[in-house]
Amino acid sequence: MKYAALKGMEDIIAPDIEVWQAVEAAARDIFGRYGFQEMRAPVLESTDIFIRGIGQQTDIVEKEMYTFTDKGGRSVTLRPEGTASVVRCFVEKNLHTLPPPQKLYYIGQMYRYERPQKGRFRQFYQIGAEAFGVAAPSMDAEIIMMLSNILQAAGLSGLNFEINSIGCAACRPQYRQALLDFFGGMINEYCPDCQRRYEANPLRILDCKVPRCIELRQGSPAVKDYLCADCRTHFEGLLAILDSFGVSYTLNPNLVRGLDYYTKTTFEVTSEHLGAQKAVAAGGRYDRLVEEFGGPATPAIGFAIGMERIVTLLKESQTLGPKTPKVFVATLGSAAEMEGMKIVEALRAAGVWAEQSYGSASLKSQLRKADRTGAEFALIIGENELNSGMAQWKDMKKGGQGEVAINSVAGFFSGGIRTDE
Ligand code: ATP
Ligand code: MG
Repeated sequence: MKYAALKGMEDIIAPDIEVWQAVEAAARDIFGRYGFQEMRAPVLESTDIFIRGIGQQTDIVEKEMYTFTDKGGRSVTLRPEGTASVVRCFVEKNLHTLPPPQKLYYIGQMYRYERPQKGRFRQFYQIGAEAFGVAAPSMDAEIIMMLSNILQAAGLSGLNFEINSIGCAACRPQYRQALLDFFGGMINEYCPDCQRRYEANPLRILDCKVPRCIELRQGSPAVKDYLCADCRTHFEGLLAILDSFGVSYTLNPNLVRGLDYYTKTTFEVTSEHLGAQKAVAAGGRYDRLVEEFGGPATPAIGFAIGMERIVTLLKESQTLGPKTPKVFVATLGSAAEMEGMKIVEALRAAGVWAEQSYGSASLKSQLRKADRTGAEFALIIGENELNSGMAQWKDMKKGGQGEVAINSVAGFFSGGIRTDE
């Protein structure tokens, strides 16, 4: 009997894990500079939170959720995205009573029952951020620039920022009607999903990836022509800030996003090097969601980065090797073995990765082991070395060798002492 991880769920192990850790460290660093605090929400929530937060008529809620009944008979769901949980927490913990803006970020697994393929998994990681309490476009600009800085700090370049505004409760109905009028006569020719979207949320037809639908919707009304004065001013304000900071972006009038809760600004970051699954991050403003969750009216905006997709891009541009210890301590005889263990511990205490051979073996086999671990140096201690107080070191890469006092090994390998002189 051999066990395997579930389809669409992957183990992340060395050497890849180092790319993940580096990206997470870069993100945490940038979040800190922008005043975002980490939050860790449960991965399992009451199902209604996602239905309410994401919207009944979305791909996620209609067909992608891991929903089941727990032993207490409650319907629970593994989170498919982060925003609904963050908003639930924001309202539950009364974070709106704290001085705005409240800025939160998270890093963690999401679950969607999708068809696994390149760049698409059933368990995947997102790094996300949400800022509550500011309606002004300067917050939209800050969020977009922070996202750009995170991606840059992670080592990515050549990404395209696509931006749109999808209006608000005041102007969306007119735009919706314009779309209904446009699609109306031809709707039977669209895919079955789009035919359903026509009734439920015609904006989402603009998001359909089916080639025939893309063709049919050429020339559909552009949302920018329907924005109310408030939405228009907001959008123009945002673009003006981005322009003055030299942030490059593309206006994409079809960028409507798959989630129902967005208002005004929506954005997506894409890469041309990823094939079909080219979105590496996406986000937008959601000024009504906190109210929907029973909190006071609170404007908010956020984004989520798809970790697997940026790790894929980063792995293309760097070669990953295994990590190797700095020192391998080889010993001969039980007295030396004890001394060797002390040295290994002292090296570790001094911040150096040190390994030992665990149990007795010939010097030859210990050095072979040192070589296999990729250690930079071998340190050899036998009877003679114990008596003289001097251990032998060997540079495993460059071939040099020499002596070092047993009681100063930790300083020798951790400090500035040069071994190549
Ligand atoms: P897509 O159009 O690719 O399905 P989406 O609109 O469903 O994306 P969001 O909900 O906006 O995606 O999630 C933000 C980011 O999370 C995406 O841009 C993507 O990088 C990543 N992501 C979403 N779904 C998956 C998945 N199943 N596997 C891996 N990454 C994903
Ligand atoms: Mg999706």
